[in-house]
Order: sequence, then structure tokens, then C-alpha cells
Amino acid sequence: MSARIFEIKRFAVHDGDGIRTTVFFKGCPLKCVWCHNPEGIDFKPELAYYENKCINCGECIRVCPNNAHTIEKGVHIFNRKKCTGCGNCEEVCLGNALTLYGEEVTEDELLPKLLEDKEFYENSNGGVTLSGGECLMQSDFCAELLKKLKENGINTAVDTCGFVPQQAIDKVIPYTDVFLYDMKAYDEDIHIKCTGYSNKLILENIKYIDSCNKAIEVRIPYVPDYNSDQIEKIAVFLKDLNNLTKVRILPYHNYAGSKYTSLAKKNTLPTQLPTDSEMEDARTILRKYGLKVVE
Ligand code: SF4
Ligand code: SF4
Repeated sequence: MSARIFEIKRFAVHDGDGIRTTVFFKGCPLKCVWCHNPEGIDFKPELAYYENKCINCGECIRVCPNNAHTIEKGVHIFNRKKCTGCGNCEEVCLGNALTLYGEEVTEDELLPKLLEDKEFYENSNGGVTLSGGECLMQSDFCAELLKKLKENGINTAVDTCGFVPQQAIDKVIPYTDVFLYDMKAYDEDIHIKCTGYSNKLILENIKYIDSCNKAIEVRIPYVPDYNSDQIEKIAVFLKDLNNLTKVRILPYHNYAGSKYTSLAKKNTLPTQLPTDSEMEDARTILRKYGLKVVE
């Protein structure tokens, strides 16, 4: 079995407890306006082109089977519509101007890479996190991989937006130690405004995971003018969960602008950033409801 991923990050310290390796799966069912991983939204492979790095060497023209690259009047032109994501040009690009997001990997290829840092996991109470995009859109592969990780004594985390069929959760739940669960809004209309979709399924699924007695760490992106008025409602909802271990508020940042440009995607990133005092106020609200808040 194989899966499509767009990054493997070693020594990650924000994707669950301890030192971890995080695998980012391609494809996401939501369209969050503040998405900082636009390369993870579409399932298909995508070539990012960083124009400012191109040195017009022409190597990409030589290897592209679809003539997607040309140099006209001394300037490199990339015709995205012709690209089928083979990755040939990324390998030869002398300016590091090209990055292909969307590599096919098998479990046998991935597992040894994830086991490389086993010693670091053991010394830090860390492990492996499956993330995205939305990893549970490829739940069969995730279940197989998580099973093998557990057979090797590795702590496992699944980072999910929760907007997946319950069957996808059922497949991974026996092999998952903790779910890192995103909560973007409690009110359905706000959730639709922020992500394009209702949150009914997301609220049902977190209650379902809780009913299975699985540890849950909730992560709330804090985005001024979008979901900043939702913290108290989310807190009221979360206080009734039995297996919530902690809540983490993630301050919105807009570092992903150049990625949108490189992928020719419409940049939807909000302009307003949260202040430190807004973040502290949000944490205070969560603590008021007895929730364990970590930074
Ligand atoms: S990824 Fe392949 S098809 Fe796409 S531009 Fe590069 S060489 Fe051409
Ligand atoms: S190979 Fe890279 S640096 Fe060379 S022309 Fe193509 S995009 Fe530019």
C-alpha cells in the first residue's frame, strides 16, 4: 500500500509530546482561510515555483516530458497546466527554485525513516505524528503504518481536523495513543465562514473518540476577526470531555504567503495577527473552565 505525502519533519517539538517525527499527508477536506500549509490542501502532486530563486539555467526545460518550462526573452516561464508532477525538474534545478509537493511512499519505505530517531523518542517521551493536510483521508494506509509503529514500541499521535467519516477514525483508533484534534469554532456559521464547511461531524467525532477513552489534545488556532469570539463556547464544550489531556492555543501567523504565490493559489491569509494579551486572555478563558492549557 502507498500514500501521498508532502513532508517528513524530524525533531518536531510542536506536534505532540517530546521529540517526534511528523509525516504530512497530502489532501485536506477543509478550506481554512488561514491555512499555513497550502501545499497540503489538494491531493494531487503540485510543483511550487519560487521565481526569485530561478537563475534561468534552463535545466528544467531539458528534463520536462511535457514542455511545461520555457525560457522566453531570457526569462523562465512555468506553464502549470502542463505539469503532471513527475518531479524530474525539481531534481535538476540549479537554483532550488522548484519543489514538488506530493510524493508517493510505501509503508516499507516510510517505516525505516520513522524508526531512525527511536532513541530520541524514547529519551523525550516522543514518537511519531501523522498530520497533513488531513492524514485520515488516507486512513487505510495510516492504520497499517500506525500498527507497525506500535509493533516497534513507538508512541503514536494522529493530528486531525476531525472532518472525516467515523469509519476512518475506527481504522486508526486501536493503534493511536493520542489524537491532536483541531477545533476552529463552535458556532456552525462561524465554522463555515472560516473553513467552508459545517462542524457538526467534527463535534460528533471528538465526542466519539472521547467515548472510546482515547487521549485527546485539542488545538485551537486563534485568528482575530475569524474565531476569536469562539474561545468561551469551545471551552464550555470541551469541559465535558473525559479524556481531554490538554488544550493548546496556536496564535495565527502569516508566514505562508510565499507558498501561496509559489503554487499560484489565491492567498486568503488574514492580515491581522493576534497580540500577546489577546492570547493570554484566551488562555485565561480556557483555564476558567478547568482546562489544562499549555503553550
Ligand atoms: S514536475 Fe515533471 S511534468 Fe511538472 S514541470 Fe517538472 S518535469 Fe515537467
Ligand atoms: S532549473 Fe530551476 S533555476 Fe533553472 S531555469 Fe528551471 S526553475 Fe530556473
